[in-house]
Amino acid sequence: MEPGPRHELIDACNRRLNYLRISITDRCNLRCAYCLPCEDVPRLAHEEVLRYEEILRIVRVGVGLGISKVRVTGGEPLVRKGVLGFLAELARIPEIMDLSLTTNGVRLKEHLQALQAAGVARINISLDTLQPERYRRITGVDAFDTVWEAIRAAHASGFRPIKLNVVALNGVNDDELVDLARLSLEYPFHVRFIEFMPIGASRIEKRPPLLVPEIQQRIGVLGRLVPVERAEMDGPAHRYRFEGAPGEIGFIPAISHQFCRRCNRLRLTASGQLRPCLLSDRQEDLKGPLRRGCSDAELAEIFFNATRHKPSDHNLAVGEPAHVCCQMRSIGG
Ligand code: SAM
Repeated sequence: MEPGPRHELIDACNRRLNYLRISITDRCNLRCAYCLPCEDVPRLAHEEVLRYEEILRIVRVGVGLGISKVRVTGGEPLVRKGVLGFLAELARIPEIMDLSLTTNGVRLKEHLQALQAAGVARINISLDTLQPERYRRITGVDAFDTVWEAIRAAHASGFRPIKLNVVALNGVNDDELVDLARLSLEYPFHVRFIEFMPIGASRIEKRPPLLVPEIQQRIGVLGRLVPVERAEMDGPAHRYRFEGAPGEIGFIPAISHQFCRRCNRLRLTASGQLRPCLLSDRQEDLKGPLRRGCSDAELAEIFFNATRHKPSDHNLAVGEPAHVCCQMRSIGG
């Protein structure tokens, strides 16, 4: 491929897309209320899911276009067979400066050493509550102690940073915001409060959304939040730290402030679609051309197409109905 600016993914809003999130499976061992409806959602047939070697080829093409940050997610990535070998392959791609994993933590402890050996240093773990019974109600599985133990073991094994993702929900965990934020005073964890996004079907009751300004105000009882300087690879999170705290607080104001201006992401779904925006169903098919034997240049053209179609903003203002039909677990949160 010739060098030159044409070979970077820069969209119409001058955002440089250098971050690829990959959902490697739509399977999950939890059934979180905000992620799944009551009824069974059909799962992708085995042959519909991209094989690891197909994902690696797509990633190599993306890397040639300036992708340097990759997050592996799902579904639950640690339930897919062969994930550690796949992560090790990704880590061997020298242009990937930042390789991370998002997991619910249920199977994390048994894989910590292998993850380190594979080259994954940064993990995000979902933790919406510190109450075991509530955890069971939110996720459908009695696994709080397992996850908390895994978080502590990851900390002891030297993973840094450990980011804890909290989806903030009125009537579900809004009474725990302070307890969750306090973790950043006790550990070097980054506690990140995420506004609930209406993606796909869920079991969340319709209530007024819990938005970042209110979260900030409620956790303010713990001290003054000082902004943390943004790093070059930072995404849309707004980073803060309580004065003197070892950890950080992050806010992902998906709905209240929108985070589009800072968005540097593309998403590869488990079924091989390239999505320029989490909150829009527009996607470009990579799997079809790939399986029909297309060239790398043709795959690159699909990356450029997705970049051209990245919306400047999402349109899910507070109170508007959901427009995103695809489930979060196959897009990759
Ligand atoms: N299974 C992994 C996990 O639980 O972290 C990775 C997949 S999960 C879809 C990725 C992240 O998306 C989790 O932190 C989860 O809390 C978040 N998430 C899922 N549905 C969401 C929603 N509707 N709004 C905001 N965040 C959501």
